[in-house]
Amino acid sequence: MKKNDVDSKIIGLAGNPNVGKSTIFNTLTGLKQHTGNWPGKTVENASGRFSFQEQDYILYDLPGTYSLIAHSKEEECARDFICFEPHDAILVVCDAVCLERNLNLVLQTIEITPNVVVVVNLIDEAEKKKIHIDIPTLQKELQVPVVATSARSGKGIKEMLTSLAKTVSQTTTKKQQPIVYPPAIQHAQEMLLPFLNDFITVPLPSSYVALKLLLEEQSFMEELQKHQDCSFLEDPLFTEQLRKAHAYLETHGITKDKRMEYVVQAIVQRTEEIAKHCISFRDQDYQKRDRKIDRILTNKWTGIPIMLLLLMGIFWITMVGANYPSQLLFDLFQWLKEYILWFLQAIGSPSILTSILVDGVYHVLTWVISVMLPPMAIFFPLFTLLEDFGYLPRIAFNLDKIFRKCSACGKQALTMCMGFGCNAVGVTGCRIIDSPRERLIAMITNNFVPCNGRFPTIISIITMFFVGFSNSFGASFKSILLLVLNILLGIGMTFLISKILSKTLLKGVPSSFTLELPPYRKPQIGKVIVHSIFDRTLFVLGRAIMVAAPAGLIIWCMANIHINGLSILNYCANFFDPFAQLIGLDGVILMAFILGFPANEIVVPIIIMAYLATNQITDFSNLMELKTLLIDNHWTWITAGSMMLFSLMHWPCSTTLLTIKKESGSWKWTLLSFLIPTLCGLIACFLFTTIARCFI
Ligand code: GDP
Repeated sequence: MKKNDVDSKIIGLAGNPNVGKSTIFNTLTGLKQHTGNWPGKTVENASGRFSFQEQDYILYDLPGTYSLIAHSKEEECARDFICFEPHDAILVVCDAVCLERNLNLVLQTIEITPNVVVVVNLIDEAEKKKIHIDIPTLQKELQVPVVATSARSGKGIKEMLTSLAKTVSQTTTKKQQPIVYPPAIQHAQEMLLPFLNDFITVPLPSSYVALKLLLEEQSFMEELQKHQDCSFLEDPLFTEQLRKAHAYLETHGITKDKRMEYVVQAIVQRTEEIAKHCISFRDQDYQKRDRKIDRILTNKWTGIPIMLLLLMGIFWITMVGANYPSQLLFDLFQWLKEYILWFLQAIGSPSILTSILVDGVYHVLTWVISVMLPPMAIFFPLFTLLEDFGYLPRIAFNLDKIFRKCSACGKQALTMCMGFGCNAVGVTGCRIIDSPRERLIAMITNNFVPCNGRFPTIISIITMFFVGFSNSFGASFKSILLLVLNILLGIGMTFLISKILSKTLLKGVPSSFTLELPPYRKPQIGKVIVHSIFDRTLFVLGRAIMVAAPAGLIIWCMANIHINGLSILNYCANFFDPFAQLIGLDGVILMAFILGFPANEIVVPIIIMAYLATNQITDFSNLMELKTLLIDNHWTWITAGSMMLFSLMHWPCSTTLLTIKKESGSWKWTLLSFLIPTLCGLIACFLFTTIARCFI
């Protein structure tokens, strides 16, 4: 899609996270956008087309942000679009339930461009909570069109488009400043204006550029340089004037470190003023209810235990619920295999090809599907429900203190939650962390959270070696406890490594940040299930399958190509065996982890295939048979324990590492992200094995 499509009007869609931006985007463009409840979800600008009253539009969905005073990548991205990309108007979507907070972004946007339409969405929710928004007064205060919408039901969308059409078709006149800064700042801005009015060639108000110069916002200046000649910054007359403006601020008590504080204070004051005129609460109950829930969920004593109970609850439902469909899938694939064999025989397939297809590709594929699909299909919807309810920011709030003690950032907890699904997603999610130092810590440690490719492995080992196959409550409780202990170990390692990194390679003090606790919202159960099954489960499974099929082929070849009577697989396993024994594993397991580098999901199928090739057992169809196979290959509870530890702590998969490289832009940090969990895993396995062997 070309941006310079001459007949189309270009519109930017801005707003805080979780205010209905994607809903509006999807309604207008008919595209499917990812929805999410935490900041940093919409990280790339999506775009789509729509028409209204015979006018074509191109709509750009900007990342959800609370502000444009660029701290995070999202804020920079949204600010750069509004400042520098050619556009005809910006739609700023707000949440009517917490409008005051949203006005922050609205004012900052109007400060840059007058072509703004403010969309007060979720008006139905506000009505339910007896919050009244006086739209005409708000419009008067902001001096731009304001429309109330309920995007989910489509109410107000037509009015919004009519306002938009009017805004893009008329030339806007200069309006008065939306934010009133303290007189000293205003004066310092004015000192720079005569120069800037002459030099600024981009369509930005000179007063805005002056403010950025006074705040010394580096990222803004870099972006400005890309769009216009900035040699005036080196002009001796200008540098002298800038020095004078800074000195003027100093003499009025606005020191360098206080400038931002004054600016933010001015914005907050203005939002409070507007809110006082335009928002009335006819019933304080809903706020009371939210606060009551928060008093329990974010309480010093109850917050973390409830979090752990919820985690255990989710895993319990996942594990117990996944057993039956997993077995059904195993049986189904077993039954299907007979027909596939029959078919291959009927078409005269040579036995070697049949073996490659069935013993190689089919076995690995069906294992991945049977073991991974059921837990994912249960875990993802449950997790998305919590996300939709608004619980995830509360987790960050609860863990903030501990992260601060490790000189890291509470928002890291959110990125860890994302890591439960997929570590690559968790690493991308680290963009929500403002400080580059804390962002790197979060990226490097994300792998300590077991992703969906790993926790089915941990679950199966717990079932086979530590709990047994009983379906009793006691057995499943023990399973959950062990699984949660595993996850807690991962979380503990995250804290430890974060602390070590912030005392050594990534030294620094924790930054302050404001974590928004959005209002609780009733989750949309149906939509959540559909969205999490199609967008997440099938996506992750699809990726695993893409790796599993060729991996099955390669491993079959390795297991069946013999040199001097030994298969290639045996050679490799024998090579790794002495070292692997030291850490409680064997050569086959270690090799499976190495070959599983593209995706963790294929580690267990590789182990199975390697053992099957050497054991003449031709088949297995469930965990019980798998346990027999493993025991025949000398697995003990020590092997199982080490395998669990190594699953939790070893190198990140290739996708995650590539994402770390992309996000950090550095091979050094990528290498470190590889080495740290690997070393931790090796040390943990060695210690566990050595100590455990003393007891047998
Ligand atoms: P985004 O993060 O800003 O893109 O927000 P989404 O479009 O993903 O919306 C967040 C949640 O609010 C979703 O569950 C939507 O279905 C819901 N939502 C969006 N607009 C409305 C609305 O006008 N009324 C109500 N009740 N819910 C809405």
